[in-house]
Parts: sequence; C-alpha cells; structure tokens
Amino acid sequence: MQPATTATIDLAALRHNLARVRAAAPHCRVATALKANAYGHGLLRAARALSTADAFAVARCDEALALREAGIAKPVVVLEGFLQPEEIDLCRQHGLQVALHHDSQVRMLELAKPGRPLDLWLKIDSGMHRLGFPPEQVPAVLGRLAACPNAGPNPRLMSHLAKADDREDPYTRQQLAVFQAATQGITAERSMANSGGILGWPETHFDWVRPGIMLYGCTPFNHGVGADERLRPVMTLASRLIAVQRYAAGEPIGYGGSWRCPRDSRIGVVAIGYGDGYPRHAPSGTPVLINGRRVPLVGRVSMDMITVDLTDLPEANVGDPVVLWGCDLPAEEIARHANTITYELFCKVMPRVVVIETEFND
Ligand SMILES: *Cc1c(COP(=O)(O)O)cnc(C)c1O
Repeated sequence: MQPATTATIDLAALRHNLARVRAAAPHCRVATALKANAYGHGLLRAARALSTADAFAVARCDEALALREAGIAKPVVVLEGFLQPEEIDLCRQHGLQVALHHDSQVRMLELAKPGRPLDLWLKIDSGMHRLGFPPEQVPAVLGRLAACPNAGPNPRLMSHLAKADDREDPYTRQQLAVFQAATQGITAERSMANSGGILGWPETHFDWVRPGIMLYGCTPFNHGVGADERLRPVMTLASRLIAVQRYAAGEPIGYGGSWRCPRDSRIGVVAIGYGDGYPRHAPSGTPVLINGRRVPLVGRVSMDMITVDLTDLPEANVGDPVVLWGCDLPAEEIARHANTITYELFCKVMPRVVVIETEFND
C-alpha cells in the first residue's frame, strides 16, 4: 500500500545541481554541505548521490561520524570543529578535517596529548559576526598552530558570507575585502562561497566552494526560484485528499474557526500537517497542488491535516494526490507564504514522512 504522506527525493536532481555548481565555479573544489541530515534530504542518501564531490561539510562531529560509520572515506570537514578534548581523538581516528573558529579550540589542541596532527581549516570572521577569529588575530593564531604538533601544516582559510542572498547588497564585497586582506600573503587554500556566493559573486570562489541549498534545488537568493538558476527541486512533499465535504457560506473551518467559507464551498482535507513538518504558520491562501492545479490552503494547519478550498476544482476527490512543494510547486513559494526559508522547510520534515528515492530523467 502506498503511504499517504511521502517525501520523494530525486537523486538525479541532486547530481544535476552539483553539475550546476561545477559549471558556476569550474576551477574550484566543492565541499557539499550535508549538515542537518543533508537539509532534511537524508545524510547518507545525499552523500552517496553526491559521491563526485571533493569533500563533504557537516556542522558537528557526530554527523561526520555517521558518514564514516557508513564507510564513506571522502574528506569530511566539521564546520563547528571539536567542542571538547575527547572529540579531538575522534577527529584523529576518523581522519576528519576540523574548522577552528575560537581560541578555546586552539587551547584544547595545544593541551591535547601528542598524536596524529589534525587537518585544519581556520575560520576568519570577515563580517558575519557569528563564528571565526577577528582578522587581526589571524597571524597570531597561525603562529600558534605552526608551533603546535597536534596541528597539521597550512590550515585552509575560510570565512562565511552573511548577505550573499542579496545580489545588490554591498556587504558581500566588504566581506570579500576583509577576507582578502586577512589572508593576503599566506600560502593556504581559501574558501568563502556558499550557494549565494557561487551563483552571485564569482570573486568569492577562491579554491573551495561550499554549496548547500542550491544542491537541494532552491535559489539562495531572497527572491525567485531554483529554476531561475537552472536548478531542479530534489524533494517533493506529497500526500492525499482523505475527505471532501460541502459547507454553506459562513461556516467556519478547522481550529479556532478563523477561516469562514465566503460562499457555499467544497472543502478538502489533506493528510499532512505540522506533525509532518508542514509549516503551521502557512496562512490561508498558501498554494497546494492537486491534479496539477493550484488550490488555496484555508483555515489553520493541524497536526495531521490541512484543509483546502476545492470549490473551483470540482473534479478533485478523495484519494487524489496532493503536492505540498517540489515538482511544479516551488518550495520557495511556500516558504514565502509561511514567512520562512526553504532551508527551514526541508529541515523540519519529520521522520514519520515516508521517504521514497527516485531518479527522474533529465
Ligand atoms: C551551511 C553552510 C554552507 C552552505 O550554505 P548555503 O547557503 O546552503 O549554500 C556553507 N558554508 C558554511 C560554513 C555553512 O555552514
């Protein structure tokens, strides 16, 4: 029996989107961002589909460990680095690359018992003001690392862009200038670009690019959709109509009765809700795709269900498939309606949604 609520993951689209990264940054090596369960797409599934990447980037040691335990030998960068001394051993054992962003990590490395030197990245704060060493501290930190037997030679230098989602914002150029000044004259590989940098700011490409959201088929920019960048959606979230009823004009629908039928209406119930990861804050009017036609969500999103107005779609009936986002209904649109970003929509898809792998042809 086909489960009602599914997330179909198109592995061919993942590979297509990686090819788009290669085309946009042809001289760069690519570290694909697989953190947070590959943005909800499945860590190992994404790692296998993206096996031609040069490295994988995850946030935390346990995510890197999951890759190693699955037998994946490719370079893995732990973007938040180790947080406690025991993790240094773990990074050594598993040959993980580690981003150092804070003095506390340098001290831990200096105090750790001698062992295999760690393959390092040094994170520089060029203006994001979240993680990273201030530019003026970079020479001193590099000096300490050069003197530390637990640190491998020539740490790569990285920084993260805060506003690359806005092609017009001059802040990216400022960050670039800060990063260039901080890294000038140092012989080391450099990395700055996330998806926004890859597609919007070629000057930020350097030696390594770090795509995330574009691999999953969405635009990194604050308007438009992935198709504008010739990206293909990877996840299609789908469910089914499980009930259809008629209500007279004026009748309230769902919790709180906040939405009332403006006319005699035919209301459908779809088996998906915030308990599956559909955003509870999606307002009435958010589009839902039934038989290839858009109908509006109406009333509040429940845990297991949403209600939709089928009055203008008389042929829709119980059992019909419903797409919440993905093919033919960009996740970007749903994110904008729900006042969030596609990253969050994907990360929040719950384990109870049945994942189906597929490979649609180009
Ligand atoms: C998540 C992440 C990326 C990828 O960002 P996207 O906007 O998804 O392309 C790149 N670099 C770092 C440090 C990250 O944490």
